[in-house]
Amino acid sequence: MDCLFCKIAKKEIPAEIVYEDENAVAFKDIKPKAPVHFLIVPRKHIHSVDHIEAEDRCLIGDLILAAQKIAREQKINGYRIQINVGRVGGQLIDHLHLHLLSGKNEI
Ligand code: AMP
Ligand code: ZN
Repeated sequence: MDCLFCKIAKKEIPAEIVYEDENAVAFKDIKPKAPVHFLIVPRKHIHSVDHIEAEDRCLIGDLILAAQKIAREQKINGYRIQINVGRVGGQLIDHLHLHLLSGKNEI
């Protein structure tokens, strides 16, 4: 499958990875919209929130816990988590991802 975030998760394409575990990988957004801007992606390819199935419910919790861990590790004091869904919702990359943002942002 020709998916940018699958390739980053498999380290076939470089990214500034800040966190990884068995289910998730997080890396710096290449075009940050805030002073802190990380993307947290599941290793499993899921197109978007609109494609989540019941069996993915634990995985979604894992992504939130990954955000919490990253924020603690990086001593980020207050943050936002954003998920864009579909083109009209601002989603450009069709692999589910959480934006972890801190500081004043543009999105
Ligand atoms: P979205 O609009 O929610 O799909 O967000 C996609 C995000 O991926 C944008 O903020 C982009 O700047 C970011 N992005 C695109 N390509 C890369 C890349 N190669 N490495 C890191 N972030 C990327
Ligand atoms: Zn993918």
